[in-house]
Amino acid sequence: MKRINMIKDNYLLDLTKKYKTPFYIYDGNTIETKYKNILKAFHNCTDFQVNYAMKALSSIAILKFVKKMGACVDTVSINEVKLAFLAGFKANEIFFTPNGTPFSEIEEALNLHVNITLDNMIQIEQYAKLNTKKSIAVRINPKIVAGGNKKIKVAGKKSKFGLALNKIEELHKLKDTHNLQIHGFHIHLGSDIASINSFKDSANVLFNVAKQFKDLKFINFGGGFKVKYKKDDNFIDIFEIGTQLTSLFNTFKKEYSNDLKLIIEPGKFLVSNAGLLLTEITTIKNRHVFINSGFNHLIRPMYYNAYHHIRNISSAKSSDKAYNIVGYICEHDYFGKKRVLNKPSVGDIICIENAGAYSFSMASNYNSRLRPMELFYYNEETTVIRKKESFDDLLTNQIY
Ligand SMILES: *Cc1c(COP(=O)(O)O)cnc(C)c1O
Repeated sequence: MKRINMIKDNYLLDLTKKYKTPFYIYDGNTIETKYKNILKAFHNCTDFQVNYAMKALSSIAILKFVKKMGACVDTVSINEVKLAFLAGFKANEIFFTPNGTPFSEIEEALNLHVNITLDNMIQIEQYAKLNTKKSIAVRINPKIVAGGNKKIKVAGKKSKFGLALNKIEELHKLKDTHNLQIHGFHIHLGSDIASINSFKDSANVLFNVAKQFKDLKFINFGGGFKVKYKKDDNFIDIFEIGTQLTSLFNTFKKEYSNDLKLIIEPGKFLVSNAGLLLTEITTIKNRHVFINSGFNHLIRPMYYNAYHHIRNISSAKSSDKAYNIVGYICEHDYFGKKRVLNKPSVGDIICIENAGAYSFSMASNYNSRLRPMELFYYNEETTVIRKKESFDDLLTNQIY
């Protein structure tokens, strides 16, 4: 498979001598290329903004890098809002898109003056009644089902996300009664969406709602752009979607007002291919290759049944034998089943690809294991951006 990630295997092998595996490494040059491709794809859109969905990978060094490229940030919890501030984002560059979080978080976000997007009537009403309120955006549910698997489809008819279209009447009333300003509409269909039509359909739903409201500043199409995980995998063509969404948007904008921005909110698209998880073979048994990692580090294969490409970068001897690559967690933790690997031996370095998005950010301490170190590579230099956890970290907050 043609590698998108730019870090060479020999360089990675050298790093495994300097830093002990397991560790994550992210390629800044890949993130930058992806970001530039987005800008190129949407270059015909006069007012355009990228909000990086930081739940994909929220390490502060990554946030700083993304900020430096010019992106704003999408957050889903008050702690993500705080991390975004720490990384240097200004309040107006932070977008808070909670889903059923306690209202206290929404009030806290309001006090921090970040942009707030709400998606249910009860909390919109609670918000409308506040004295200190400022305008909000509303996430709607366009009733379009899209996404790679059922855990990441978030906009079907019965979804927990987004305001149902039949609530728009109520929204109008609330707006008038409480003098609530609505400055944007938002959708987010799910993750791993490979169909441009899903976005086009939801654009039309959004425009229909948007034209009923006067003071909009932006329309946010969300994220979910599918990337390649393996050879021949389908993925979203960012140039195609950029061209098509821009053209729909520009037409709408002519009818609406000149002061309207198009926002997209990619998480996975920016960082997935950039990340690698480097591990080492600990033992081999019955075609099971064990590595010094588990779903405490990378849960996507087990939780989503996600395919991650896996390579033995230590061995040059190709083989046609298939192996199961498994972790050390005392449960079934298969990173990959029946994968052909170059001849494996204990101590070989196993590289797991597409480990940038929803990888470290979903890591845990299950089995009282430590979360790994994170490295950042940019222009042939590598820096540590997060130390490996220590035993003491497991004791923090325990009372005994
Ligand atoms: C998770 C999320 C995204 C990003 O999804 P990706 O599949 O990583 O692009 C964007 N917007 C919202 C509101 C999200 O919750």
